[in-house]
Amino acid sequence: MASGHLYALDFDGVFCDSCGESSLSALKAAKIRWPFIFGEVNSAMEEWIIDQMHILRPVVETGYENLLLVRLLVELKVPPVRKSSVAEGLSVEAILENWLKLKPTIMSEWNEDKDSLIDLFGRVRDEWIENDFPSWIGANRFYPGVADALRFSSSEVYIVTTKQSRFAEALLRELAGINFPSERIYGLGTGPKVEVLKKLQAMPQHTGMTFHFIEDRLATLKNVIKEPELNEWNLYLVTWGYNTEKERNEAREISRIRLVDIPEFSKNLK
Ligand SMILES: [Mg+2]
Repeated sequence: MASGHLYALDFDGVFCDSCGESSLSALKAAKIRWPFIFGEVNSAMEEWIIDQMHILRPVVETGYENLLLVRLLVELKVPPVRKSSVAEGLSVEAILENWLKLKPTIMSEWNEDKDSLIDLFGRVRDEWIENDFPSWIGANRFYPGVADALRFSSSEVYIVTTKQSRFAEALLRELAGINFPSERIYGLGTGPKVEVLKKLQAMPQHTGMTFHFIEDRLATLKNVIKEPELNEWNLYLVTWGYNTEKERNEAREISRIRLVDIPEFSKNLK
């Protein structure tokens, strides 16, 4: 029976600050998907959109939602292009508060389909990577100290992310010089994170280990708490990454969840 610690680590908002990259990718993809709307967007407005996306980043669970957000921002700002009933009187703060309700409404009013948006978003990234790899890498950064924590870790480490695995792998290699084994990255398409955690704990080689899951998204940790099968997992919300002060305060009230800062994170991973 194995002993020791197994860490399942989220990627965006834990290792990688990808907000600049994902917002720019979303703009590129939105121009392809909705040319009739993004034809109206000039560079000043693009800058405004990118700024707002930094505020809105905590609501994003999967990359394609960035596309929805950039379009909604345009609808908020430019009444003539509005196709959704929710845009009128909407503010950035209200999007931040109500995203889970807004998302299905705009998806159906825009007649959009999740899978094709995911495909498009992935394709635009692939093209950016292929055509201008240095600028794509440069649009991402790692939070200070986190790459070393991974590099020097002697624990059993897995990355569990809603990003496509190949992007996480490339970023680790290019930004941190880490050749992280691809079989240890559970990316988009490997199922919901709760299912990945169940899979990890069920692997025979992990029997007897102590399980830890580190995330920057409170909603994801709450999903884990709902699963009795995952009772063994220690849960951590990082104090950096894409969460709000309100969410951190909420997490402090939840006994299953511990807040962790970068120095503690590095110490834990050792
Ligand atoms: Mg995250």
